[in-house]
Amino acid sequence: MGVPLLDLKAQYRDLQDELDAAINDVMANAAFIGGPKVAALEQAIADYCGTKYAVACGNGTDALFLILAAMGIGKGDEVITTPFTFFATVEAIVHLGAKPVFVDIEPGTYNMDVTALEAAITDRTKAIMPVHIFGQCVDMDVVNEIAGRHGLKVIEDACQAIGATYKGRMAGSLADAAAFSFFPSKNLGCAGDGGIVTTDDKEIADACRKLANHGSSRKYYHDAFGVNSRLDSLQAAILLVKLPHLDTWNAQRRAAAEVYGELLAGVDGIELPVVRDYGVPVYHLYIVKSERAEKVMAALQEAGIGTALYYPLALHEQECFESVDGFVKPSLPEVESCDARTFALPCFPGITRSQQDEIVRVVKDALA
Ligand SMILES: *Cc1c(COP(=O)(O)O)cnc(C)c1O
Repeated sequence: MGVPLLDLKAQYRDLQDELDAAINDVMANAAFIGGPKVAALEQAIADYCGTKYAVACGNGTDALFLILAAMGIGKGDEVITTPFTFFATVEAIVHLGAKPVFVDIEPGTYNMDVTALEAAITDRTKAIMPVHIFGQCVDMDVVNEIAGRHGLKVIEDACQAIGATYKGRMAGSLADAAAFSFFPSKNLGCAGDGGIVTTDDKEIADACRKLANHGSSRKYYHDAFGVNSRLDSLQAAILLVKLPHLDTWNAQRRAAAEVYGELLAGVDGIELPVVRDYGVPVYHLYIVKSERAEKVMAALQEAGIGTALYYPLALHEQECFESVDGFVKPSLPEVESCDARTFALPCFPGITRSQQDEIVRVVKDALA
């Protein structure tokens, strides 16, 4: 019995009638970029996250870039972030000419170690960019308190965390602004690339909207150099069909994670994810850590079970930073201890108990 890491075809089959109708509707109306579907999605996401504004854009990477640009972050500025994230987080910082400053992570949650933040602040620090990695929120009260004392902006990279909560509040509403991705494999995915910025700050929202549209708020008049990063109506229509199901899907992911927690409790040689009691995670990925990751993953692959390293190499150790001016590779032992050791077990909405039993059997056998 093979099990994929994620089953997007099953999700399509479940919603096929509604999705096909939404797609046909966009085709018939021939409004392909922006328009009422995108406006409706922006309103729906702002309502869902509990923010005043949401600005759709081309993808999650651009959402991060637009927020930083809207905040005026650029050359000579430093942004503190985590080395344990998808590459896009730091790409946005580097492309604006700013310098990423990495702090180490917490064991178990793999989130930014907020106790290391203060020591990383310099005169050049402009912002802190926590990433709610694998769908669990960072301890944002601590981040915001430190940022407040030092006059720094805070940007949530919430690309993996749509629907997650922190002390009862939604990811995306926990800082000055947040970025979400609708990449197909994210918890709320479209049929291609898509992203959105959420914020309560009108200036940031307006600036993101303008920068995403060639620095223009009035057609053919440009008061800034922006980019082309807009959301297709087709993607918005698809996301509007899926959004009402998101909470159910996230609950199914949590239920699957709970099953792994029970079945793998006390098994030697594998560390299970730690959940902090300040919030509710959405398990974008269910990540375990093992010194014998290679062996376990080989056994899973042999059994036709989807798995992958998240992430094989921490960002501060990536070759690209060798060419970044003034970048001195920090020593970050906790995140380095994850290199090639942290990997995902299938944890998607609709995974069955018998699939999970099989996965756990393969994992246990490999570790025995
Ligand atoms: C997916 C992701 C991004 C980038 O989103 P795209 O839509 O693929 O550009 C950024 N940060 C994190 C943490 C992500 O998981």
